[in-house]
Amino acid sequence: MSDTPAVVRTEGLGKDYLGGAISVHALRDVDLRVAPGEMLAIMGPSGSGKTTLLNMLGCVDLPSRGRYWLDGEDTSRMGDRALSRVRNEKIGFVFQTFNLLPRLSALDNVRLPLLYSTRRRARQAAREALVRVALGDRAHHFPTQLSGGQQQRVAIARALVMAPAILLADEPTGNLDSRSGEEIMLVFQRLNAEGVTMLLVTHDARVAQHATRIVEMRDGRVVGDRPVSDRLRAEEVLAAMPAPDPETPQRETT
Ligand code: ADP
Ligand code: MG
Repeated sequence: MSDTPAVVRTEGLGKDYLGGAISVHALRDVDLRVAPGEMLAIMGPSGSGKTTLLNMLGCVDLPSRGRYWLDGEDTSRMGDRALSRVRNEKIGFVFQTFNLLPRLSALDNVRLPLLYSTRRRARQAAREALVRVALGDRAHHFPTQLSGGQQQRVAIARALVMAPAILLADEPTGNLDSRSGEEIMLVFQRLNAEGVTMLLVTHDARVAQHATRIVEMRDGRVVGDRPVSDRLRAEEVLAAMPAPDPETPQRETT
């Protein structure tokens, strides 16, 4: 496997948060290699450095030490402009809280990353991304008219629309009920089967069991790394769940 070109490769990656007298070693000496097509779950207790690692891999924040190659490019040597290009073109990021803009329709939210496309091409790409997350029929809905699970699927479409080299997701099912969470895992597994490489952070062992590989973190270090032999299939898990509620928009109870 080591001669497969890695889409993610880190060497001695470290991150300190400096605050007055106290500095936190949030990430220590992480050597990670992810091949194209892998679906990685990053697990570990709260404070173990999962989000910090994902933010380093997403070029959201700079590491204190070590090197990081994304899709063959050495990001450690990049300046601000190159890093923002990498963030826009090579990285799709999904957050626990969806982070959609409330005044924009699903379609317009998904269109946002397409800064340099013509209006027509951007709309077309955004539509296709919504179809990939099974929301082709909700393009003109606003976030408040969508359930939590649907909002997260819009966020996934937005993360996909630039055809990134990697899809990163930080606790993507953390704000969802178990059925909606499983539907998100179904979308992720389908995308992964189409070849999308993804890394998702979770503290939920059942969620992690949908991945192809589980990396375990403690105190900023990687302390475990194993393939998943008994992978859960979201399609089967969903089929075994009680009948779904009808897909109605979430409303505040009055
Ligand atoms: P996890 O996502 O696994 O819960 P984090 O990566 O968020 O862990 O945090 C790892 C460690 O770094 C924790 O001790 C946390 O308190 C600390 N930390 C995270 N972000 C910051 C920050 N912006 N400033 C200072 N300390 C931070
Ligand atoms: Mg976290």
